[in-house]
Amino acid sequence: MRERTEWLVELGSNENPYGPSPAARAAVLDALHGMHRYPDPRGTRLKHALAALHGVEPACILLGNGSHELLMQFAQAFAGAGDDVVYPRYGFAVFALATQAAGANARVAPALPVESAMPLGHDGDALLAAITPATRLLYIANPNNPTGTWIDAATLQRFVAAVPPEVIVVVDEAYAELADAPDYRSALALTAAHGNLVVTRTFSKAYALAGLRCGYAIAASGFVAVMERLRESFNVNSAALAACEAALGDAAHLEWSRARNAEQRTVLGDALSRRGLRVLPSQTNFLLVGLGERAPAIEAHLLQRDVVLRPMGGYGLHGWTRITVGSADENRRLLAALDEVLA
Ligand SMILES: *Cc1c(COP(=O)(O)O)cnc(C)c1O
Repeated sequence: MRERTEWLVELGSNENPYGPSPAARAAVLDALHGMHRYPDPRGTRLKHALAALHGVEPACILLGNGSHELLMQFAQAFAGAGDDVVYPRYGFAVFALATQAAGANARVAPALPVESAMPLGHDGDALLAAITPATRLLYIANPNNPTGTWIDAATLQRFVAAVPPEVIVVVDEAYAELADAPDYRSALALTAAHGNLVVTRTFSKAYALAGLRCGYAIAASGFVAVMERLRESFNVNSAALAACEAALGDAAHLEWSRARNAEQRTVLGDALSRRGLRVLPSQTNFLLVGLGERAPAIEAHLLQRDVVLRPMGGYGLHGWTRITVGSADENRRLLAALDEVLA
């Protein structure tokens, strides 16, 4: 990596330390020859590749400038003043931002207790109870950021079936490719039966293309058609379109990246647990770690050692910190710096 910040152990943003497929890098360089042209406004090639991967029609796929853009636009399109948007406590921060930007009213459902099988995770019953006649949209992330927790397949299926059909359910699956728990299942299989279900994915995490900004949604073609009319014509640039298509063609790289993350997730989680820290179960590329009252002091100490974590005060998770699972070397440097301050 030829980066200005090479010395930095950046464990604050859940980026993929292994980088994208070499095919994606080559595709970007090739795409640069055409940088004087506008990108394909329909993203046809990438949509077809995604359609083939997921076994859906291209008309069911919506491309975005990162899934962040799509999450924001759903609220812009379907919720406004006087409407309710439901999302869970400790859900992804963008759900609250999208709701606010749309001028809608947030209904925040309580999380599962910290002393439960899925600590601080989404509570399906609480989410259902938060739905009112004014609710237009409901957001969850599965697996979730910042907790790392997930909803098991049976609970997810029951939950989606129980939401009134006029409420749009957005399941943000930014970490789906990194999940390997036997009881984890993508909501994609449920989209055929539930026209109100929208699943978002991203190339930012498992595919390691965060800097190029590309994400997508899979939903009923009618929903996608509405969003296609609202979006900016060239919202995904030509380098991103080319890189993402190439990345989809390199399943071996994805699997390699996924396996390394899963291995290091266990190694890092075990190492933190051995130091007496509470580590929540995670199906992602990060861990939510209990540091207690010392959290801000520990985070500051690590920052002085060029190790960046993500403080959780903004989520109301005081005493917790979120740590991206780095490469083996990065995790060793994190633990060494942590041992200094815990000593
Ligand atoms: C990282 C992340 C995203 C990805 O956002 P992009 O805009 O696609 O980079 C979406 N949702 C969650 C929960 C995330 O953690």
